[in-house]
Amino acid sequence: MKAAQLIANGTPGRFELRELPEPQPAAGEAVVEVRACGLNRLDLWLEEGGLPIQIPLPRTPGGEVSGIISEVGSGVTTWKRGDRVAVQSNLFCGECEFCKRGEESLCLRGELLGVNRDGGFADRVAVPARALVSLPDAVSFETSAALTLAGSTAMHMLTDRAQVRAGDWVLVIGASSGVGSAAIQIAKQLGAHVISTGSTETKRNLAKKLGAEFVLDSTQADWPAEVRKLTNKRGVDLVVEHVGGDVLPKCFECLARGGTVVTCGATAGRDISFKLWPFFVKQQRLIGSYGRNRNDLVATLDWAAAGKLQPVIDSIYPLDQAAAAFAKLRSRAALGKVLVKP
Ligand SMILES: [Zn+2]
Repeated sequence: MKAAQLIANGTPGRFELRELPEPQPAAGEAVVEVRACGLNRLDLWLEEGGLPIQIPLPRTPGGEVSGIISEVGSGVTTWKRGDRVAVQSNLFCGECEFCKRGEESLCLRGELLGVNRDGGFADRVAVPARALVSLPDAVSFETSAALTLAGSTAMHMLTDRAQVRAGDWVLVIGASSGVGSAAIQIAKQLGAHVISTGSTETKRNLAKKLGAEFVLDSTQADWPAEVRKLTNKRGVDLVVEHVGGDVLPKCFECLARGGTVVTCGATAGRDISFKLWPFFVKQQRLIGSYGRNRNDLVATLDWAAAGKLQPVIDSIYPLDQAAAAFAKLRSRAALGKVLVKP
């Protein structure tokens, strides 16, 4: 089978379309024939060698897999050849104290598909059967591959780590990203007033289309003042943040008393400082969010099947152009998700 493998780190990294032996399912695993696989910021970190751990190369990236089961290993009884599936990319042990209470995103032995083991930029990929989720008939492979990772990350942030109440003001940073575009729709569906940010007019128009009531130009230094103005100086109840760097401290300037910032990323910088005094006086919260639980992924696909959550797909590349897909995402010109289809 063919796989697009990363063979050398860099910006850009070096990719090669390679002929590899067919993956064999170990006990408790299934082989999925990949129909679409989403590209994420995580893949770019792998490409540039920017992850906190050294990943041995070559490696087949790609965690956001949808496809059809082609083979199951011994002990797998709940899945069969031909089943349409999505894959939970944060692989989990199913046995630790966190997995036992349904919090796979906290698994003590968690691994990432496409990072710690070969992922979905290939014709077929072997995955633990416990990471499979049934794909509803109404959800296409492309929709699944565009929502499984970023969409369920947003679902985890907005319905598990933090809660959105009807009437809340929610600020979503970065409308055109996978997490941002899903977060706008989820917050809107939950009855919130949504404000978002975008660095170009095209991205801001997308935010409006997805349901944001107000969209601010993030290249203007005073955008937090605009948020305060829009909320009559009150500030928002929740900020959905995934950028880090100098953006995260600014989020506190937008936050109401008792409000919450929930964050799941650090693209713009991993070390921050912010003013502690107003933070505790206003009794605010900063919540970390990582990955997703099975419940979040099931909810994401259910919402997609019901038409409540729609993917924003920028482009779809064939497997032999995986390097171009990486370049597109890295250019920050992508409006929504970049997918690869074997
Ligand atoms: Zn576990």
